[in-house]
Formats: sequence, C-alpha cells, structure tokens
Amino acid sequence: MRNTLIIGAGGVGNVVAFKCAMNKESFGNITLASRTKSKCDEIAKNIKEKVGVEIATAAVDADNTQEVIDLIKKTGADIVINVALPYQDLTIMDACSATGTAYLDTANYEHPDTAKFEYKKQWERDEDFRKAGTMALLGSGFDPGVTNVFCAYAQKHYFDEIETIDILDCNAGDHGYPFATNFNPEINLREVSAKGRYWQEGEWIETEPMEIKQVWDYPEIGPRDSYLLYHEEMESLVKHIKGLKRIRFFMTFGESYLTHMRCLENVGMLGIEPIEHKGQKIIPIEFLKTLLPDPATLGPRTKGKTNIGIVATGYKNGEKKTIYIYQVSDHEKCYQEVLSQAVSYTTGVPAMIGAKLMLDKIWWKEGVYNMEQFDPDPFMEELNKQGLPWQIKELKSPDELRVDI
Ligand code: NDP
Repeated sequence: MRNTLIIGAGGVGNVVAFKCAMNKESFGNITLASRTKSKCDEIAKNIKEKVGVEIATAAVDADNTQEVIDLIKKTGADIVINVALPYQDLTIMDACSATGTAYLDTANYEHPDTAKFEYKKQWERDEDFRKAGTMALLGSGFDPGVTNVFCAYAQKHYFDEIETIDILDCNAGDHGYPFATNFNPEINLREVSAKGRYWQEGEWIETEPMEIKQVWDYPEIGPRDSYLLYHEEMESLVKHIKGLKRIRFFMTFGESYLTHMRCLENVGMLGIEPIEHKGQKIIPIEFLKTLLPDPATLGPRTKGKTNIGIVATGYKNGEKKTIYIYQVSDHEKCYQEVLSQAVSYTTGVPAMIGAKLMLDKIWWKEGVYNMEQFDPDPFMEELNKQGLPWQIKELKSPDELRVDI
C-alpha cells in the first residue's frame, strides 16, 4: 500500500487532501500535516463526511528538516506533496533527498527576507535527488503547472517551433469583500507589487509594477484589464521551449484591487523589513495578513469564474499558426465539490495529478524537473477526468483575443 504525505493545510492543502482521498487507489494511506494540526483535523473531518475516506493528520514545522525527515519515516511516505509556503521548499526538498522520497510543490522557493523567487536553489538540488534515486517535480499547480503543460502540449502537437507565448490568468471571482487575496496574502502581494519582467530575444526586460496593461477578451468571462507581471514558469519555459523569441505573463486586476494595493504600498503596509512598534518588532506585510480575510474562508462567498490559458504563435510545416489553450473553472462549483474556491481548486487538482503520475511512474526520472520536461499527454487526459476540462482553439492571430487594439 502506498503512503502519501501532504504538508500544508491552507486552501490548496484542503483541495489536495480531498482530491487524493477521491483517488485513494493511487494514494493509499494519506497523512495531512501542517504547523497547526487543528486545521488538518478540520479538513480530515470534512473529507470523512463528504468522501467517506479517513485520512491521518499530524503537526509538523516544515522549516525544520529533521522534523520532516522524522515524519516521512513515521508515515513511510512514498511522496511528499508540499503545499505549505514557498519558504519551506528547500527544507522539505532536503528531507526528501535525505530519505529517498519523491517531492512535489506548486511554487518556487522564496526566502522570507527577500521578495525574489527563482528556481536556482531548487535546480541546484538535482544531484542530491539523482544520488538518492528519486525525483522532484517543481511547480505542479496551475500557473506554474498546467500552463507549462499547455506549452509542452502546443509544442508537441501543433508546432515545429513556437515563437511567442502569452500566459493569460483571469480571475473574475467576486467574494464581496472590498479587499482580499485569493491565496496567501503575503505571497500574493509580494508577487503583484514587484516589478514586471518579460523575456525577449534572450534577455529579461524589466517594467515598473503594473506598467503594461492590455485588455484581453476571456471566453466565458469577457474583456478584462490584464497587467504584465513576472511569473515563475517563464524561467523554466525559456530553457525548455525551442525557438522561443518572447514570453510574457498577464494577470487580471480590477480597479478596486489596484487602488487598495497602491494605498497599502504607499503607507508601507507591504514592507517585509521588521519595524519597531511600541517596543515590539513587527513585519508590516505579516500584520496585514492578520487583518485580511483568510483565503481559506473565501470559498463559500466567491461567485464567478476563472480562465487561465496560453496563446502560442509559431510555425508548422512553414505555416504561421496561433493556438489558444485554456481552462475555465467556476468558483461555486469548486466549492460544492471540495469546499474551496477555484483559485485553490485549480492549484490543488494539478498537484494531485502530478503526484499521481509520479507514483504510477508515468512521469518518473531521477533528479529535479519542471513540468514541461515530461510528456504532456497523460497530464492533459487527467485534467479532463479530474475536474479541470480544457479547450483548444486555433486563432488567426493573438490580436483576435485583444479588444484594445
Ligand atoms: P495558505 O496560507 O492558505 O496555507 C499555507 C499552509 O502552510 C498553512 O496551513 C500553514 O500553516 C502551512 N505552513 C506555513 N508554514 C509552515 C511551516 N513552517 N510548517 C508547516 N506548515 C506550514 O496558502 P495556500 O493554500 O493558498 O497556498 C499554498 C501554496 O500554494 C503556496 O506555496 C502558494 O504560493 C501556492 N500556490 C500556487 C499556485 C499555482 O498556481 N502554482 C496558485 C496559488 C497558490 P498555518 O495555518 O499554521 O499558518
């Protein structure tokens, strides 16, 4: 019997635990562990009620490699699905390579003191995983994750060479609060307040935060203001998609969200350096997290849809082509199924699928890998079966989806 260890019991951890329980034949005995065990117990209770499957729970401080090693040994884990925070990636990876256990995450490593995320430190662990005879799959969420698989699928089936990719992430959900973030506020606000960056002709080009805006028309949602951001999947895609000349990432934001964010930034609430307050040291963005609604509580209030996809242009047999691959999810439907809104759902389902393919040795190579390095077909099939059906369209050009030109 297989043993699966999930670390992190937030919005995404909830979905992963539900979906693993719903695919118990692949995951065997499931343990959900996190810093606060009561959150794991609550999720386990809901899974028992809704799915009829018992999962075990445990407390773990995943900043401590030895604690993770002990838990891996205790549970006999074959795989660790890391859906805690990006700060824990390296400690959990080290615990996995030390014990020869497979590893998967959904977000690349960040140090709590520097708002910078990159794969360098995770890729450096390739040798450790090879020596341990096991593998790590990085970024198996939606973006990164499914977007990488969409690119690999486009490359495999539609192009001899891809020239440009635009990744389009639209969340048209409405939770009814004046301001809240759909996943961990600290991670989310660090990402969107950072400078933008895209890659063109072998170089990274930096922009001011939110400097480039385009209006894309998202199927099942409609036109939305979309802003160019740096996003981590671009770092691996520029290495692995042949012939690529440009890659950009756009995410939708409403006026109200941006006004709140600018205001919070202007008064220093997004700061990551400790400040002195009445004799106590506090980190502004951590304090803000305490004030904002917990993303895990947004589920029952969120209505509307998400649409995330990629537009790729390139050549097939000498002919220029444009392909759009996208996936639409409905916040309320996701909540009905697993008690989480679509942002957590669209992250947690791909994490479960990645882990399933690894356990079944369909995606299996010793070392550290990104999603686009594997055959996209089995993953694309699973998306259709596991609640994230996707669509594909041929366009005349990417401009067909733009309404501002
Ligand atoms: P949450 O903040 O809701 O949950 C994080 C969980 O990790 C909490 O249960 C938290 O515990 C736990 N945790 C934090 N630190 C530790 C620690 N040291 N040891 C053990 N557990 C810890 O985040 P989300 O569920 O929204 O996001 C989870 C991950 O998914 C993040 O890495 C995020 O970046 C990623 N993500 C990826 C996306 C993608 O498409 N690729 C999209 C959205 C998110 P506690 O409750 O005690 O604080």
